[in-house]
Amino acid sequence: MNEREDLLADLLAHGRFLGSLGTVGVPRPAAAAEAGGVAGLPSAGTLEPVGDPVAALAAIREDLGDCRRCKLWSGRKTIVFGQGNPRAELMFVGEAPGADEDEQGLAFVGRAGQLLTDIIEKGLKMKRSEVWIGNILKCRPPQNRNPEPDEVLSCQPFLERQIDAIRPRVIVGLGKFGGQWLLKTAEPISRIRGRVGEYRGITVVPTWHPAYLLRNAAAKKDVWEDMKTVLRLLGRPVPGPRD
Ligand code: SF4
Repeated sequence: MNEREDLLADLLAHGRFLGSLGTVGVPRPAAAAEAGGVAGLPSAGTLEPVGDPVAALAAIREDLGDCRRCKLWSGRKTIVFGQGNPRAELMFVGEAPGADEDEQGLAFVGRAGQLLTDIIEKGLKMKRSEVWIGNILKCRPPQNRNPEPDEVLSCQPFLERQIDAIRPRVIVGLGKFGGQWLLKTAEPISRIRGRVGEYRGITVVPTWHPAYLLRNAAAKKDVWEDMKTVLRLLGRPVPGPRD
């Protein structure tokens, strides 16, 4: 399969999710480059300043309420709002809660979450409480199926507001859905990973989802390269092999 066929197959496979990106547009690569996107990736505008991030996040949670804006409300146990430092320099955005997250009401607390903790604490040498961790969807899709466009459309305003409130310096997009949503692109994660993009003026580093790493340990070296990029972007020291 050549590159174009590969991209077409990915588009067909994930067309419904990508359709939900239509609210902000999915610019053609050439148009994105003309618009000045970082490394040829598109920008989706700039952030509006908000006040105190703690108050802003509390207001967003209040607005979310006992949300029934999409069909996922009926199968959830808890809304997973996301958690961490409201003034985080670094934010991680994944796809949706899984079973453990739905049970506990916290993002990334299952096996993939433990691996994310290792990436943050052992790789980045940061505390998990220093960063913000969240998802595009706040409720678990049944059987962990992929997000559907109406669900993304209903839920994404809350993530957009969370990002506006926290205003991190860098956002790591976890996996295909996290990376594609942030970069408003149809390109597969295998192609956007390793490049630095932009979401409304904030630098985005797409990388493999921790759940993928559980099945493909060899991909951990890619994630380490991406985390070194994150450290450089944050102006933090990059640990050597013996650290
Ligand atoms: S996924 Fe988001 S929009 Fe849908 S019910 Fe849950 S909180 Fe509301």
